[in-house]
Amino acid sequence: MKNTLLVSLALVLSIHATPLLGQTTKLPHVMILATGGTIAGSAESQTSVGYTSGAVTVDVLIKAVPGLTKIARISGEQVASIGSQDMNNEVWLKLAKRVNEILKADTVDGIVITHGTDTMEETAYFLQLVVKGRKPVVLTGSMRPSTALSADGPLNIYNAVAVAGDTGSRGRGVLVAVNDNIHGGREITKTNTTSVQTFESPQYGLIGTTLYGKQSFFRYPFRKNTTSSEFTIDGVTAFPRVDVIYAHANMSPDLIDAAVKNGAKGLIIAGVGDGNMTTPALEALARAVRSGVVVVRSSRVPSGHTWRNSEVDDDKYGFVAAGELLPSKARVLLMLALLTSNEPLAIQKMFDTY
Ligand code: ASP
Repeated sequence: MKNTLLVSLALVLSIHATPLLGQTTKLPHVMILATGGTIAGSAESQTSVGYTSGAVTVDVLIKAVPGLTKIARISGEQVASIGSQDMNNEVWLKLAKRVNEILKADTVDGIVITHGTDTMEETAYFLQLVVKGRKPVVLTGSMRPSTALSADGPLNIYNAVAVAGDTGSRGRGVLVAVNDNIHGGREITKTNTTSVQTFESPQYGLIGTTLYGKQSFFRYPFRKNTTSSEFTIDGVTAFPRVDVIYAHANMSPDLIDAAVKNGAKGLIIAGVGDGNMTTPALEALARAVRSGVVVVRSSRVPSGHTWRNSEVDDDKYGFVAAGELLPSKARVLLMLALLTSNEPLAIQKMFDTY
């Protein structure tokens, strides 16, 4: 089994950036970068609940999609083979740098990234902030493993490739094509643990829809992204530690103090309501700011703004308000912001811009 995987990987690397035989050169060239996830998952039977993420290689994924080579010239590359619950800064940097390299070389018309659904929204937003190019970069994944009854992966890959090869997708930031919907990298969030219709873009709606490879677009992203983003990962090899802390009734200050003690340079509080927390937690956050940590107030509520200076006096405490960015996405933005600043008002401006 291990040998088969190695042979598959060698095959993938050998076709790297090279269109497959028999494909017409008029079709757009789409490169698929695989990172693992359920879309590459394998289960013991067609109806098993349990499965292993990231077990299937990119060439096998491509071959499982009927008609794919009729809509694009495809090449594939394996960037990682992980469940996205294991996504980390190293893989993000490797993936984003590879995307930027491919876009700079200008040999493809679009890029598809296959990815687990658990942290897809974070990767999409990270790429939205650091990818430098207007050509489509489209993430996709699936809720059911590749071996399941009615696996949703093949159609999602088909649609993602169609979106990536469509010139109408250009300049719309990093996109996610799942379950016939096209989401913006900033807005998308997972809302259901197992349903195929899990992804929503709660506040601002979809960028468009796709049906068997035909797109209908509704809007462009409204915040700065990709080519207009100030963030760069050139020369970056690591990020400052940023932790997310979940607020709740009777919240103690202990986890906040522990995060700071363990080296967090930034804290995102997933506050109750409009980014609120207990008085002892608020005092711990104030201590964190005094020790040089940047604190961002966001909300554990799935939609709505966390407004600056509403019930908490952000001016007095030196906090940043996340607006409508979800805690997981606020963490991504703060990690990038901390590369260049630890000044709360400068970082507030970034939260108002991205
Ligand atoms: N745990 C999986 C992952 O994120 C779930 C999925 O892909 O749907 O990799």
